[in-house]
Amino acid sequence: MAIDRFGRNIHYLRISLTDHCNLRCVYCMPEDMTFRPNQELLQDAEILHLARLFADLGFDKIRLTGGEPTVRAHLVDLVRGIAGTPGIRHLSMTTNGVLLDRLAQPLAQAGLQRVNISIDTLDPAKFRRLTRWGDLDDVLRGIHAAESAGLTPIKLNAVIVRGYNENDVIDLARLTYENPWQVRFIEMMPFAGATELQLKQVVTAAQIHSQIESGLGRLEIVNGGRLDGEARLFRLPGALGEIGFISSVTQPFCAACTRARLTADGRLRLCLLREGEVDLLTPLRA
Ligand code: SAM
Ligand code: SF4
Repeated sequence: MAIDRFGRNIHYLRISLTDHCNLRCVYCMPEDMTFRPNQELLQDAEILHLARLFADLGFDKIRLTGGEPTVRAHLVDLVRGIAGTPGIRHLSMTTNGVLLDRLAQPLAQAGLQRVNISIDTLDPAKFRRLTRWGDLDDVLRGIHAAESAGLTPIKLNAVIVRGYNENDVIDLARLTYENPWQVRFIEMMPFAGATELQLKQVVTAAQIHSQIESGLGRLEIVNGGRLDGEARLFRLPGALGEIGFISSVTQPFCAACTRARLTADGRLRLCLLREGEVDLLTPLRA
């Protein structure tokens, strides 16, 4: 078991499969983003090797992320290899959903269990403005493909940004009436340097919560108010799905954190918001 100096059992590894992406969300990266050359990124065999080492340390849960994980070449074979790693019991992916229409089925067959799909608005024009390059229909098709492939329960991630989609919260919350999905509202983290967005554009979880209650009625607490991963869960009366709030900015959940991150270029990072990293790729290649 990997216990850190704060007594937390770190057993959940997020592996960034690539820094590349087929979208350019305004809160994530600039439009003229430059990416690292392929040879500086972890190769498939290196990822599988590290997955085995982390599993030996007691890690049992892996989430594949990015950049956009679905743009990685040979993704299905890589997922099959990770899913087959002894000790890994949970394997999921966070994706923008654009390529899921054709990938959901093969990924599920390869051993992927679940997906989180990012969708910040149901308005096609606002979706294009937020993602710069995205087509909302691709993502909607991706969500349905994931559901048909059994990559469930489906969780949808919505980052709310003032000036972009703060008025779309109710429509997103309404999705839970008819669908057994978890719609999770995420406070935007204004990454210094990476984007031009500012702290004043953060919409807090409390503001989103009260917007939903004013529009749709009182939210019922799910799970006794305990965190489910990083989200606090609620339900609209009679809804099939749940609504989650991820308040990384206003109510950090560091004490309950169980995760470590492996960057696409092979660095171990213990926290998204700290600069400290340990290079694993150089010693691995040596
Ligand atoms: N490309 C995939 C996607 O968009 O789902 C996976 C990688 S993305 C970095 C993972 C999650 O982080 C997405 O839900 C995205 O919306 C969220 N995210 C990106 N930038 C963020 C920011 N500045 N603040 C909060 N969440 C952010
Ligand atoms: Fe790409 Fe995901 Fe970042 Fe959007 S949030 S630019 S989809 S990596």
